[in-house]
Amino acid sequence: MATVRLILGDQLSPAMSSLADIDPETDTILLAEVMAECTYVKHHKKKIIFVLSAMRHFACELEDQGFSVDYVKLIDKGNTGTLKGEAQRALKKHKADRLVVTRSGEFRLAEDMETWSTDLGVDVELRDDDRFLCKLDEFNEWAEGRKELRMEYFYREMRRKTSFLMDADGKPEGGQWNFDKDNRKPIKDDLDFPGPSKFTPDEITQEVIDLVNSEFADHFGQSDGFTFATTRSQAEHALRRFIQHALPRFGDYQDAMTDKDPHLFHSVISTYLNAGLLDAHAVCAAAENAYKNGDAPLNAAEGFIRQIIGWREFVRGIYWREMPDYKTRNTLDATTPLPDFFWTGDTKMACMAQAIGQTRDHAYAHHIQRLMVTGNFALVAGLDPDEVNDWYMRVYSDAYEWVELPNTHGMAIWADGGVVGSKPYAASGKYIDRMSDHCSNCAYSVKEQTGDTACPFNALYWDFLARHEDRFKKNGRMGLVMKSLERMDSQKLDATRQRAAKILKNLDAV
Ligand SMILES: Cc1cc2nc3c(=O)[nH]c(=O)nc-3n(C[C@H](O)[C@H](O)[C@H](O)COP(=O)(O)OP(=O)(O)OC[C@H]3O[C@@H](n4cnc5c(N)ncnc54)[C@H](O)[C@@H]3O)c2cc1C
Ligand code: SF4
Repeated sequence: MATVRLILGDQLSPAMSSLADIDPETDTILLAEVMAECTYVKHHKKKIIFVLSAMRHFACELEDQGFSVDYVKLIDKGNTGTLKGEAQRALKKHKADRLVVTRSGEFRLAEDMETWSTDLGVDVELRDDDRFLCKLDEFNEWAEGRKELRMEYFYREMRRKTSFLMDADGKPEGGQWNFDKDNRKPIKDDLDFPGPSKFTPDEITQEVIDLVNSEFADHFGQSDGFTFATTRSQAEHALRRFIQHALPRFGDYQDAMTDKDPHLFHSVISTYLNAGLLDAHAVCAAAENAYKNGDAPLNAAEGFIRQIIGWREFVRGIYWREMPDYKTRNTLDATTPLPDFFWTGDTKMACMAQAIGQTRDHAYAHHIQRLMVTGNFALVAGLDPDEVNDWYMRVYSDAYEWVELPNTHGMAIWADGGVVGSKPYAASGKYIDRMSDHCSNCAYSVKEQTGDTACPFNALYWDFLARHEDRFKKNGRMGLVMKSLERMDSQKLDATRQRAAKILKNLDAV
């Protein structure tokens, strides 16, 4: 009997477990563009363009390989608007009595699928997503019985498991696991940024751009200037360009920020990795080869591989281990509404204007902008975690909850109380000044802590520490900063907290 094999918009790889034993004679591959998935959060226009165009290209690729593909476009007559509805229609149309699908990476959809077999009255086989280098069972085994889950120790296990950058004696290449301290150079004036690969939209992509402009006009972000890869071969081209032109400097400038360029030496491949156009193992192998061939230094290759086999796999493990209640935690009782400038970019703070502006234009900001600029602001201003998570899900082309939530809720705003990071990544303007050229173009003075022209990060940072003094005094890793707070002259602290109160009272005015 026939089988329908459903491929989701972030499963665009011929290696999906749902396709493993496909019989091209009897089986049909279903790809469906549905309104529910485009709007359960109002994704950035460029993200929707990317996903729908990459789905259409992938369907063509499968057809060229001789598979029978049922492709449902968003505005096709009869489209039910949900994945379950489209699965039901396809089962009937193809007279199939079995549905095979790789589990969704997002809890809400994975949970929904658990009832599909009953709801649809057919055998629904849910398979594990084996694109990741660490199976969820393995992660849980590693996590079991540990007092704290720290990425660094998980990462070392992953280095041993994958053998990336390990020498013949089973020791880490260069004698160290981690070269993070070599990855914090601030930006220099004379740097040339290579930029990511750009692709002119073909007919398929152009049709999707028109569709998105008409159906999702009220979603955040610019649709103009869409130059993303939408096929596997284009994504591989983008990876090669990164390895050749940006990886050599990735390590040194990993944490740097500038008004001059949105991408610096970052790979800009998360969108492709998360959707299945690139394979995590192959990406790391390419970086390791560059190191072995003498084309990239060790701190670059190690730093890059750590993000993928370390952070990416770690946050996925945390997500599935901690959901669903993870999302509802609000350890720091943060309740301030998200200010409007997160949507408009209309703020006098140069660092925030740059991060939000490029997010609107490119659906991209690099890690330090997400963590130490917008995330840091959300943390120290005590913004409501639901609104902050919603914002991060809406604005980035690589946003999927399994990776967005632990990064935002855990790493950036510490709403999880320390599951992802042992201490909050709170910082004053001094950090941003050290790592960027933003402050020299800002209306505020990074050197000032009080008064109307003082950098808002400064007052908010100290106010944040003071607000949570009782909790953070008990955190061994915050000893130094809490001592500085204690030593601060009481008049200065009062003035700082008054400045913070004034900022918080009228957040939209900063
Ligand atoms: C608040 C916040 C929200 C985030 N939301 C997302 C998200 O929705 N989707 C997403 O893919 N990443 C997210 N990240 C992680 C990281 O910022 C992005 O993966 C990275 O900026 C993507 O750009 P890049 O491809 O140029 O990455 P590079 O800096 O070139 O890094 C290489 C790759 O490593 C992986 N990576 C790096 N850091 C992380 C991390 N902390 N967690 C998981 N993978 C990582 C990505 O796949 C990335 O492509 C978030 C980080 C923060 C602080
Ligand atoms: S002065 Fe403050 S607000 Fe302005 S760019 Fe620097 S850190 Fe950002």
